[in-house]
Amino acid sequence: MIKIGLDAGHGGADPGAVYGERKEADDVLALGKAIAGKLRSHGIIVGETRTKDISVPLSKRARLSNERAYDYFISIHRNAYLPEMASGVETFIHPKASDKAVSLARTIQESLVEVGFVDRGVKQANFQVLRETKAPAVLVEVGFLDHSDDNRMFDTKRDKIVDAITNAILGQLGKKLKEQDEMKIESAIALLVEVGIIETPEYWETCINRNVPPRSDYVALLLERMANFVQTNLN
Ligand SMILES: [Zn+2]
Repeated sequence: MIKIGLDAGHGGADPGAVYGERKEADDVLALGKAIAGKLRSHGIIVGETRTKDISVPLSKRARLSNERAYDYFISIHRNAYLPEMASGVETFIHPKASDKAVSLARTIQESLVEVGFVDRGVKQANFQVLRETKAPAVLVEVGFLDHSDDNRMFDTKRDKIVDAITNAILGQLGKKLKEQDEMKIESAIALLVEVGIIETPEYWETCINRNVPPRSDYVALLLERMANFVQTNLN
């Protein structure tokens, strides 16, 4: 079984880069969770160094990776420089990185450039999470948090970014991104509105987009209505 370690940078007391209301810790957590979900839907075991806004020391992140014997370790960050001065994607590997890490870094970098980010290249750095992890490790900076163009891309092309990174990881593992033959969530919600099962599509869309669990009484009502619908249409 292949095990991937996903590391959403910063968190808790450490917000990472901050620009206006925007915090790196939030951006990378949301992205990391989405990638984790997508990888799991491809049958891959994914461990996350954090799934909440909590502080996790760098040494612990690396230790978790080594203890859990991940096959790859991917740290997700967003960059910052001077307001509106720099933009683009860069992917880091340790100077002594293995071929596997180099290859994964290149694929992640290329796939994000294809989404539309400026190509700042694959670079070497002696970062702790790259140095202390035994697994092939990469650290990707998904655009500059202090550049409006990159933030617009980050927000409007979220699904493409998730697919790009997921696809790069899957490619490294010799797997392919599954075709999205399932119904898209927007169409699913629209259909449920049409048949009267859902009355507040905005509520459900907000929950999904913000990764917030819906209220359990709403879920109960939804399940009741769906069961009624199935029963009516089966008889
Ligand atoms: Zn960072």
